[in-house]
Amino acid sequence: MKTDLKHYTVSQVVEGFVYNELEGKGLFGLAGALVIQPEYQRNYIYNDGKKDVAVIDSLLKGYPLGLIYFNVEDDVLEVLDGQQRITSFGRFVTGKFAIQVDGKEQTFSSLSKDQQAKILETELDIYECDGSEVEIKQWFETINIVGVPLNDQELLNAIYSGPFVTAAKVEFSNSNNAYMQKWQSYIKGDPKRQGILAVALGWVASSQGKTVDAYLAAHRNDTAVVELKTYFTSVIDWVAGVFTRPPDKEMRGLEWGRLYEEYHGQSYNAATIDARIDELRAAPAVHVAKGVYEFVLSGETKPQLLDIRLFEDKDKRVAYDRQTKKARAAGESNCPLCALGTDNNKAKIYTLKEMDADHVTAWSKGGETKLSNLTMLCQTHNRAKGNR
Ligand SMILES: [Zn+2]
Repeated sequence: MKTDLKHYTVSQVVEGFVYNELEGKGLFGLAGALVIQPEYQRNYIYNDGKKDVAVIDSLLKGYPLGLIYFNVEDDVLEVLDGQQRITSFGRFVTGKFAIQVDGKEQTFSSLSKDQQAKILETELDIYECDGSEVEIKQWFETINIVGVPLNDQELLNAIYSGPFVTAAKVEFSNSNNAYMQKWQSYIKGDPKRQGILAVALGWVASSQGKTVDAYLAAHRNDTAVVELKTYFTSVIDWVAGVFTRPPDKEMRGLEWGRLYEEYHGQSYNAATIDARIDELRAAPAVHVAKGVYEFVLSGETKPQLLDIRLFEDKDKRVAYDRQTKKARAAGESNCPLCALGTDNNKAKIYTLKEMDADHVTAWSKGGETKLSNLTMLCQTHNRAKGNR
């Protein structure tokens, strides 16, 4: 089977567009050379005032519509995927529905000449596939190209193909890049399958509050990738500067872009950080080794990152009974912190349900999760302690 990437404008595709209102079908385009809705495809379902409007909105804003697939059938082209999008702009251009622009209802003919031209001159990326029906179907189901399913970034590269993607691939998709080994200490993914590029784009896009799609759309025709490269390097250099030890394998694939945004304004002592990482990685109570990096960055304020083991119910019961017996004898509260106070709770005996288990020596200071390091506190005091 053969596949060719072609580029048609909206204007070319809608030439001779016919929409059958009765059957709810877009029928032809490309001056009759394109069958928009072969019998086996479902009816037009985008005419809900949302999806069809979104298609026009995308065209007006210069967002790509995504890949479209045509099947080459003798002298005719059939739409394999994209009929909903094509029928949407075909119907709009032929005056079948209106959209809101700046609060005003606009049909195609009431749009400004500039806006009309923007829609008509939009280039669509269309794969023309030539093969047997079975081949086409198989190919289409998995979106296979030469037998390898495209991953998300590969699809994006196809959709936004142009000088920017080309330049970005030179930088991030070349296994022989001198920095590749360093990058792969922190990032999972195969550069040849665009794994590093995907991460680099994700970082810079989310630092600007954008999706990767929107970022690529905005930069599609840029010839240089300075911003992408600079931001990526800032993140990597920051990680390598804070954690100066040889990278652990758990550091691969962490959300370094997010961590950079959250913590790069703080100063850290690399020697202290490295020593603390060593301790935490060796602590048996720490169940999630990859959590220790953010835990340390956060000033050890997010214990949930480490999934510290909780005390067992039977240990809590034993500690509770022991404390309560002692407290009753002494006429004071079974919460040791309440017992120290001067208010009405000074002699209050809490039920087991009203108390929580607490580490006597904090686990962050090496305290273990076992009975000998367990004290029961009333919930108020336990929470107050946890928030310190
Ligand atoms: Zn208390």
